[in-house]
Amino acid sequence: MTWSIIATWNFSIDGVKAAAEFVAKGGKSLDAVEMAAKYVEDDPAADTIGYGGIPNLEGEVELDAAIMNGEDLSIGAVMGVKGYKNPISIARKVLTDSPHNILIGQGAEEFAARNGFEKTILLTDESIRKWLDAKKQLAEISKENKGCNKANHDIYGHDTVGIVALDTFGKMASGTSTSGLAMKHKGRVGDSPLVGSGFYVDNYIGGAAATGVGEDIMKGCICFYAVQLMKEGYSPQEAAELAVKKIHDRLFEKNGKVGNIAIVCADNKGNFGGAANHEGFEYAAASDKTLPTIYKVKPVI
Ligand code: ASP
Repeated sequence: MTWSIIATWNFSIDGVKAAAEFVAKGGKSLDAVEMAAKYVEDDPAADTIGYGGIPNLEGEVELDAAIMNGEDLSIGAVMGVKGYKNPISIARKVLTDSPHNILIGQGAEEFAARNGFEKTILLTDESIRKWLDAKKQLAEISKENKGCNKANHDIYGHDTVGIVALDTFGKMASGTSTSGLAMKHKGRVGDSPLVGSGFYVDNYIGGAAATGVGEDIMKGCICFYAVQLMKEGYSPQEAAELAVKKIHDRLFEKNGKVGNIAIVCADNKGNFGGAANHEGFEYAAASDKTLPTIYKVKPVI
């Protein structure tokens, strides 16, 4: 029986292992995506996702997450949610139990409370320390740049857990979860909870999930694009590379600079791959043919 699970970054390896075991035993792809994301959301060492995520400029942890069912293309997404450590599960509840695709901020929090999710303090000693340190660095930069703080996230970075799963029934799902860019402005939303940009999946073809600077990723709707490339016959690896390269080149041509962009792709036959426009991108994946492994990616540019 063919199955696969792939997720961005090496911090997702434990979630991938657990989800792989689950799917191999007949678990469903939508559950596997939620399970893998929760592993990372619960881990304070993954400091750009869920509990322990680096706060925004004002010291609040605002989370974005989304999940998509490749069977009927249903979507659930939440944006700017505070006080809940598993936004992926709230997103899934939006998918199954709300008449809408996306809920934001207070509306998403009230929806979570109504549906029995428990409030949690997401700040940790470590994330407070990082925030205070980043504030200090920003004050210095702002003095030098006359108040310009365009590249706040360069100080403490950003990452997303983005997942695509194929189960033994041939059904696929994808999802993302992130606290977004460190030291982002209050209310800022990146690509991660935006369908087509941060994630996409269709059982008939495959799925994709992205990580990197959302402000650039969303300009190319990279995940929808990668899935369309797989539909045209490209393998997941080829689709990932081509999608990253095309979008990178286009943005570079227009602006002379591009933020980090990385993507993972999987098709409905158990093949998967990943690509990035920068050094250091890794993803974790497993399938009926491969044990859970962390893959290092060479930049396509
Ligand atoms: N894409 C995320 C965002 O822009 C951050 C990341 O994945 O690095 O919010």
